[in-house]
Amino acid sequence: MAQEVAPNVLVETRFHGANVGCIVTGEGVILIDTPMLPDDARRWLQDIRERTDQEVIYIINTDHHRGHVIGNQYFPTATVIAHEFAWKNMKSYGDSFRTRLLNLYRDRIPKAVKEWKEHLEIVEPEITFTDRTILYKGDKEIHLIPLGGHTEATTVVYLPDDGLLFAGDLVVTDRPPFLSQSDTKEWLGALTYLRKLRYDVLIPGHGELSGKEATEKMSEFLRLVRRKVRSAYRGGLSKADTARSLKHLIHFWPIPPFEKPKADRRFKSSLSRVWNEMRAEESAKARAKARAKAKAKAQKGTKQSASV
Ligand SMILES: [Zn+2]
Repeated sequence: MAQEVAPNVLVETRFHGANVGCIVTGEGVILIDTPMLPDDARRWLQDIRERTDQEVIYIINTDHHRGHVIGNQYFPTATVIAHEFAWKNMKSYGDSFRTRLLNLYRDRIPKAVKEWKEHLEIVEPEITFTDRTILYKGDKEIHLIPLGGHTEATTVVYLPDDGLLFAGDLVVTDRPPFLSQSDTKEWLGALTYLRKLRYDVLIPGHGELSGKEATEKMSEFLRLVRRKVRSAYRGGLSKADTARSLKHLIHFWPIPPFEKPKADRRFKSSLSRVWNEMRAEESAKARAKARAKAKAKAQKGTKQSASV
């Protein structure tokens, strides 16, 4: 059953792919992400129809990952809104994206694969943004706040009057977060920002409804991963060896049964991404240090020649 988290705002956390939201504004329905599986999408539309006969006018995608966007096709009356970077990514979803999707789900959810083979359309955003954007619709005020971190496109949806925050994949509670396109430093900054906003209910990208405390657990995990990967890098470990030696960190999180087959591989790819980030941060630090040293040396030189 969909949960009513505020007047006329529904959330469903049980669909495969990602959590989804629905805002009935009085002047049309606005969706936050869409259920990726055809059966879930039909179910969602039925739940919405039981509430209202208003048309679905907008879909807000919180990032471009398949679990959030494939379902856009099942709501043909809606215009999709997303960050410009999400649009750039979704534009490139061609044959290889399709093949990967079908292969990934062939054994796990054959019914969905059968339908996707007949019809799979990536409905791209028609409205994009790069800065904070506010939708005023009916009696609802909906803030789209791009914060990055998880991906360059990652956007949270904030309803200040309802005390609600849709955190997208910046916050997940029931599985390891996906870091393979992330900037963990920016992600930590985003979580700090989320702790300053006022809301009672936080809807994570995956997992059950929560409060602000879910941001703390995410920050703790990201700091831990950064610290461990940094010291592995400083110790001279290669990317592959770092990923191998830290694979146990996955147990910071529960792993849902359907995630099991790919969880280790995804986590390895997450650690590799952080290793790249640490290498970049460490070499930037080394360059800054060398510049400061050279500057100090040059100043010393000028002083000496001035005193001659
Ligand atoms: Zn994502």
